[in-house]
Amino acid sequence: MDFKERIEKAVELIKKAGYITAFTGAGISTESGISDFRSPGGIWDRYRIITYQEFLQSSDARQQYWKMKHELFRELRNAKPNNAHKALALLEAKGILKAVITQNIDGLHQDAGSSRVIELHGTNRKAECVNCSKTWPIEEIDEKLEEVEFEPVCDHCGGYIKPATVSFGQPMPEKEMMEAVQEAQRSDLMFMIGSSLQVEPAASIPRITFEKGGKLIFINRTETPWDHLASVVFRESASRVMDAILEALQF
Ligand SMILES: [Zn+2]
Repeated sequence: MDFKERIEKAVELIKKAGYITAFTGAGISTESGISDFRSPGGIWDRYRIITYQEFLQSSDARQQYWKMKHELFRELRNAKPNNAHKALALLEAKGILKAVITQNIDGLHQDAGSSRVIELHGTNRKAECVNCSKTWPIEEIDEKLEEVEFEPVCDHCGGYIKPATVSFGQPMPEKEMMEAVQEAQRSDLMFMIGSSLQVEPAASIPRITFEKGGKLIFINRTETPWDHLASVVFRESASRVMDAILEALQF
């Protein structure tokens, strides 16, 4: 099917569906200038991955981790939501989209105006004490990093402060995972945008919708192991596809 036919097919699925959700990954944010941490030349080439256990055990690991984040925040400061983020926010405002389930930690769905966002990997917008769970806006901790030699501690209990993201070696947040599974089960249509569906258990979310009889629309630059489950697959950019869908819906 050519692009136009696939857009028509997607629109037909949207019109028939009663409960639509979206599952998003790094690919939806690349057009906002945020590089996928798996892509070469990114920040992850210059820093090694620090696991949650290392963070807890080693002062050096904590400093390395915060230095990486400090550099990353400079890179992210000017990132703005793109048309794909905005399209999902508009679909929610129109009452069509019920929730966004995301693997991203960049907060761009919220910046675009989405209100129901389930963050499976936490968020870079907040910092959290690993001991008492007190949270701060990330800027508050970030601006003091040099002063505290990249090892901020909690003013309440003295515990280590970490960005409120899910690190390697840290389990997925239970509440968010449960909500995501419930949303996936309820969905009769799910957009999957910008995930290569490699990371489990997050990648299982669209499969749950499919197994419950729901339809899937995949928008991703590269192949995924689950493309055969989707009713329509797009390799075009997410903003181009979402713009075309909104236009066809006459929004
Ligand atoms: Zn604390």
